[in-house]
Amino acid sequence: NLVSGDAIRRRFLDFFASRGHKILPSSSLVPDDPTVFLTIAGMLQFKPIFLGKEPRNVACATTSQKCMRTNDIENVGRTARHHTFFEMLGNFSFGDYFKKEAILWAWELTTKEFGLPPEKLWISVFQDDDEAFSIWRNEVGVPEERIKRMGEEDNFWTSGVTGPCGPCSEMYYDFHPERGSSDADLGDDSRFIEFYNLVFMQYNKKEDGSLEPLKQKNIDTGMGLERMAQILQNVPNNYETDLIFPIIEKAAHMASISYSEADDTTKTNLKVIGDHMRAVVYLISDGVMPSNIGRGYVVRRLIRRVVRTGRLIGIRGDGLGSPDGAFTPVLAETVISLSTEIDPDVSLRKTAIVEELKREELRFVQTLERGEKLLDQFLADALTQEKPCLSGKDAFLLYDTYGFPVEITAEIASERGVTVNMKEFEVEMDNQRKQSQAAHNVVKLSVGNEMEIAEGIPDTEFLGYDSLSVRAVVKG
Ligand code: ATP
Ligand code: MG
Ligand code: MG
Ligand code: MG
Repeated sequence: NLVSGDAIRRRFLDFFASRGHKILPSSSLVPDDPTVFLTIAGMLQFKPIFLGKEPRNVACATTSQKCMRTNDIENVGRTARHHTFFEMLGNFSFGDYFKKEAILWAWELTTKEFGLPPEKLWISVFQDDDEAFSIWRNEVGVPEERIKRMGEEDNFWTSGVTGPCGPCSEMYYDFHPERGSSDADLGDDSRFIEFYNLVFMQYNKKEDGSLEPLKQKNIDTGMGLERMAQILQNVPNNYETDLIFPIIEKAAHMASISYSEADDTTKTNLKVIGDHMRAVVYLISDGVMPSNIGRGYVVRRLIRRVVRTGRLIGIRGDGLGSPDGAFTPVLAETVISLSTEIDPDVSLRKTAIVEELKREELRFVQTLERGEKLLDQFLADALTQEKPCLSGKDAFLLYDTYGFPVEITAEIASERGVTVNMKEFEVEMDNQRKQSQAAHNVVKLSVGNEMEIAEGIPDTEFLGYDSLSVRAVVKG
């Protein structure tokens, strides 16, 4: 299969290798940099070189980097293109080539090597970057109406609060060229997908926000492998590519359902499982064990979400017929079977990964089952009322102490003819959010202008999925 995920990765790396780039391995998801929480992009392992703090060993390099973006958790399964764990293909120049070569190669790679029709490609450039605009228009020949000038938010890339940064230029694929170009909006994800970002890395952002020119002009790029796979495999979203779909099919099979016949909510649940299973396997493989602090808490919450979501779609026990078993180890086997080209170390660590998941899942299930008993009592009480209704406070207690998502509570309640006071539940949630925001110093775990400081945080609590943005709350 010429367009398998593995083939796309190989062809990207070979394309740049034959143009003088050294193929380097992915670095760990846990960066060798105390100021960075998790590896969010391919450039992180090269940060000291970009900043001139370390000498370069090669003039240019190419990688397929394992990445983890906790700020995209809420997008998982809801947009067609976001994951927490994904692979970023990149080509890098350390003071060697710059804008023109990067743009010309990006065009050749996407149109010749990957064969994307030029008329379906759109470009964004930073608003002031006339040079990039004119290379795309005059040297590549992209019609002016398909080159958009955009602001800092989209087209000025920074790896963190401080650090190397610069204007960027992105490539978008158009799934609906028949809609014309007059009022096309690259942010419309029913039509466009961003798949390749070229960063013209020429500044160091200082503590005070000022931009200091770097000694050398560098190139840092990122192409989402799953996104290119979606385009080339002609499937409606990243999740249905060969990189992730086998995990989803496995989960569906364990729940005795079919993905293609499932409703949208169930499909989203299956996508969440597919995404989070990859994330936890690669995180554990890179040494992040479930715990209550920092990165470990990310893993713990992701595992819990998989377990709860799995139960929601009907997976019981180990999913293979044994009621007392754990199912995340079974799904992990599928993830690991797909890992060879992504990270050869993962299969070597298989036993440890599977054991860790089993322990964590079984422990969590015990908590869940204690919660189920309590829910039984609440429901029995509610049934003595004229209009049986579970209070929001009780639903919140189940959520907060026993890890019961309110949808599960509502589902079980409705099977017994009991409703849940959702308004009251939301009020409780809001109160908790406000309390933790007031009491703690909030550090955003996100990409873009703010980057997280991981170490030196005494005790962090991951507020995850239910709040509008993902935060680590720093206690004390
Ligand atoms: P988007 O606007 O779609 O959120 P981005 O601008 O945040 O993407 P960049 O920081 O430019 O993404 O990262 C470079 C490339 O990595 C993107 O063009 C995309 O192909 C890929 N990518 C970024 N975030 C994700 C994600 N959460 N899941 C999968 N691929 C991603
Ligand atoms: Mg993004
Ligand atoms: Mg973007
Ligand atoms: Mg981008």
